[in-house]
Amino acid sequence: MAAPLGLSEEQRALLDLVKDIARREVAPHVDEWERDAVFPRPAFDALGKAGLLGLVYPEEYGGGAQPNAVYLLVLEELASALLSVGLGASVQTLTIFPTHAYGTAEQKARWMPPACAGEWIGAYCLSEPGSGSDASALVTKAEREGDSWVINGRKAFVTHGGEADYYQVLARTGEAGPAGISCFFVPADTPGVTREKLEHKMGMRSSPTAAMLFDGVRVPEGHLIGEPGVGFRIAMQALDGGRLGIAACSVGLARAALDAAVTFAREREAFRKPIIEFQGISFMLADMATQIDAARALTQEAGRRRDAGEPFATQAAMAKLFASDTAMRVTTDAVQVHGGYGYVEEFPVERYMREAKVLQIVEGTNQIQRLVIGRSLGRD
Ligand SMILES: Cc1cc2nc3c(=O)[nH]c(=O)nc-3n(C[C@H](O)[C@H](O)[C@H](O)COP(=O)(O)OP(=O)(O)OC[C@H]3O[C@@H](n4cnc5c(N)ncnc54)[C@H](O)[C@@H]3O)c2cc1C
Repeated sequence: MAAPLGLSEEQRALLDLVKDIARREVAPHVDEWERDAVFPRPAFDALGKAGLLGLVYPEEYGGGAQPNAVYLLVLEELASALLSVGLGASVQTLTIFPTHAYGTAEQKARWMPPACAGEWIGAYCLSEPGSGSDASALVTKAEREGDSWVINGRKAFVTHGGEADYYQVLARTGEAGPAGISCFFVPADTPGVTREKLEHKMGMRSSPTAAMLFDGVRVPEGHLIGEPGVGFRIAMQALDGGRLGIAACSVGLARAALDAAVTFAREREAFRKPIIEFQGISFMLADMATQIDAARALTQEAGRRRDAGEPFATQAAMAKLFASDTAMRVTTDAVQVHGGYGYVEEFPVERYMREAKVLQIVEGTNQIQRLVIGRSLGRD
């Protein structure tokens, strides 16, 4: 990666620290974690201890008080080492958002420091077996009983499901549609919280994705975040930030694929010369490099808008759409550059290609990103 412009000494040191942790705590274990579907908790412990899991949140709650632009470069670095870790750090940041943006002072003081320190890993439960893109159709219910809420329902595709220490659960407390949804903080050890099924995925196997059952789960009144009925707004705002994270992870994954492709193309010979000397290959690499830099620029610009307090939802959708499509294209081309070696597990590019696909799906499919962008064009 070209050295990012405009970073302070402290921020450069932070990125060096991330690279160091990725090299020591992640890179040596990637093959084993992915082969055996091991959740890399030790990596998250190390990131938490280094203060890298709550980077954008205020220091008084254990955060790093860093701008989004820096946080997104950190995610890029982590995802270039292993997507499960980059995406996991992004999900962790997303699960802290509801408490930070809508929680009471007491909720923030109780729940944010352990999450920022990585002592608690979080999960975000919006999708259900019958509702993904149309999230406001969710049917998981929360009913008030005395001074508690009782939650019943099923959540689908929960990242960190079964490994998390807490779940941010979106549940229906009122009328049909978005206005009847509320957000709850549910500790994982609450009776009735069960992992029903661990999904076996195309890629990113070290990131657990699970179907979760919430069966008569009773939480105190104080575990409702925000007012009843604002849950959908919380969920959508959390996703705006989450999409920036997915965009940054996409850039990191694409960068790893480009690095692998360039290394291979310099070493592999055909017709008595390195294949990088064939224009058919070097033009492909040139396009990959250009698309990656464009994806990073779009992602950074959306992050800067957020840092400046400007509306950024449309730019986050654009960044997620462009960067994840770039990751898919670049990883596919990286396989092509490797020829037959691209299709075997000895080289990492087949894994990168399998991992890239999920980035076009999570936190709103790329059709939904186009819907968000298109709607913004229809407004004043
Ligand atoms: C590995 C993984 C991790 C995930 N982690 C989480 C998580 O932590 N928390 C969580 O809540 N969810 C999570 N998800 C769920 C993810 O957000 C959903 O899969 C995604 O939002 C799509 O929902 P769906 O799968 O129900 O597809 P559907 O909504 O059923 O969509 C099916 C197809 O129809 C298209 N489509 C739907 N509506 C429209 C429309 N209006 N216009 C055009 N096309 C449309 C979609 O783009 C898609 O191609 C995860 C998913 C995966 C695969």
